[in-house]
Amino acid sequence: MDSDQHKKTQISLVYFLAAMVILFAFQWIFLAGSTREVAYSDFKAYLNKGLIKAVVISPTTIKGTMSDPTGKSDKPVLFSVTRVTDPNLIKDLDSKGVKYAGRTNNSIWQTIFAWIIPIILMIAVWNYMIYKMGMGGPGIMKIGQNKSKLVASDDATKITFKDVAGIDEAKEELEEVIEFLKEPAKFESLGGKIPRGILLLGAPGTGKTLLSKAVAGEAHVPFFSISGSEFVEMFVGVGAARVRDLFTQATAKAPCIIFIDELDALGKARGFNPLGGNDEREQTLNQLLVEMDGFDTQKGVIIMAATNRPEILDPALLRPGRFDRQVVVDKPDLAGREAILKIHSKDVKLADDIDFHAIAARTPGFVGADLANIVNEAALLAVRRKKKSVTMAEFAEAIERVIAGLEKKKRLINPKEKKIVAYHESGHAIVADALPNTDVVEKISIVPRGIAALGYTLQLPTEDRFLMTKHELEDKLAVLLGGRVAEEIFFGDISTGAQNDLQRATDIARAMVKEYGMSEKLGLLTYERPHNVFLKGDNWRPTEKEYSDEVAAIIDSETKRIMDEAHSRTYKIIEEKKKTVEKLAKVLLEKEVVEKKEFQKIVTES
Ligand code: ADP
Ligand code: MG
Ligand code: ZN
Repeated sequence: MDSDQHKKTQISLVYFLAAMVILFAFQWIFLAGSTREVAYSDFKAYLNKGLIKAVVISPTTIKGTMSDPTGKSDKPVLFSVTRVTDPNLIKDLDSKGVKYAGRTNNSIWQTIFAWIIPIILMIAVWNYMIYKMGMGGPGIMKIGQNKSKLVASDDATKITFKDVAGIDEAKEELEEVIEFLKEPAKFESLGGKIPRGILLLGAPGTGKTLLSKAVAGEAHVPFFSISGSEFVEMFVGVGAARVRDLFTQATAKAPCIIFIDELDALGKARGFNPLGGNDEREQTLNQLLVEMDGFDTQKGVIIMAATNRPEILDPALLRPGRFDRQVVVDKPDLAGREAILKIHSKDVKLADDIDFHAIAARTPGFVGADLANIVNEAALLAVRRKKKSVTMAEFAEAIERVIAGLEKKKRLINPKEKKIVAYHESGHAIVADALPNTDVVEKISIVPRGIAALGYTLQLPTEDRFLMTKHELEDKLAVLLGGRVAEEIFFGDISTGAQNDLQRATDIARAMVKEYGMSEKLGLLTYERPHNVFLKGDNWRPTEKEYSDEVAAIIDSETKRIMDEAHSRTYKIIEEKKKTVEKLAKVLLEKEVVEKKEFQKIVTES
């Protein structure tokens, strides 16, 4: 945000300089030209010598043509003289037979070229600049008008809780708000106490925006929505005016919902910015706080807001009487994903083989927006393949696309790299197959996808996992190390391709020591407070460590011990199954993709 601001300032400076250059260029061309400035006395002298040919006399200047006084060229010279009071001028001109004409002022064309066109240009540049900076409007006139969209209640009712799935807990918590919005007076007379502000917290795409619309839809009330980033305007004071305006509008339409999307853009903690504050944002935020404190809850205005970065919000926003009710919108679980898939494929023609449960099982960690995307991709693929309905094949490919970015078969990868990737992935797959507590290997691919992933081994959990045992974690470590160990064994060398695997393995090993009490040396103590994973935004900082340096050293050595043990275990497995790994890698090099069935055939045959 702040570097953006900086860039904008630079851009506007460039525009300004460009406009000035244009202005001066025009004046240079149309006013100056090759006109020679001449003193009045010299003009008189030239006139007496008979050099002056013709003049145009205006109230302040005399301009005209004369023969070159130096006599070097016979081209006439343009000249310009500042007029002085000279009663004999006309007489002298007449006596020398010079043609003369009067003009009340500068030529109108000169005025147009020198001033009006550059000014028009400057206004155009200015407007373009404002437009570029995201004002969106055609000009300055629009600033300050409220851009919040009022969705008429008919419109809002189109989205209801039926359109939202997989986040039942959040829905339940909002049930009460709907009751209140339906009949504020009755609710209150029964002694219900309603919060002013509700903050929806959750990862991007979990359906926060959708959910707030559904609340309005369920309650049949108008829905005012505005995005926090829209408030961050160029001119100080505009955002604050908008907030005031928004609350006035909403109070008139009560009961209703005001929804502020991306609250973090607006409500970043004040004084958070080392490059000096953003006055505009702070003013807008202050205005929001003032409005929230000032308005009357009885009227039935509910303020909802959404953010995926609650940790950077100004604490003032979370105080009682403001956004004091917080609703977590979680990523959906297996059943939730299945339900979301069903909602989104309501209007899609599906083949009989579609098994949403299987698709949901293949997409752990996906949020609603990803699932909607999968259905959409699958439908598009079916159209492209000229199928009558969408089959599982399309869904399978859509999942892969969404998981790893579009297939980039054309991406060139040199044969040596390809070979390394094939052995690396085979290592993962064979270790996963050899160990008891691991997920089933579904697919191995060495088709490069996106920028980061050169290949992948897809393992499918048979169910959502909330608990993992020590053995499962150890096996997982071994699988993660499988790629690197295969490189060691077959190439006697290691590549950078295992970096992500190692990172993940180290994280697991460290968590086993610090959080899960799985190290005998440290015993049952945990050395890390659990935290919500999605709360780790960009600005997430670990809390101060709560243990001594000696303990830190033990944690490090224990983590290393777990990693080393996992490594030697993995090494043994791959040494033992060297032939199988080799065979699998060869098939991979040939076909690039090996599916579950073929994989199992390779494993059992060798
Ligand atoms: P967020 O605001 O949390 O980033 P959105 O509400 O904008 O997410 O979700 C984007 C789209 O993803 C929605 O319009 C909807 O189509 C789909 N979606 C997300 N979550 C859900 C859900 N729980 N149920 C159904 N559809 C969902
Ligand atoms: Mg949103
Ligand atoms: Zn790997």
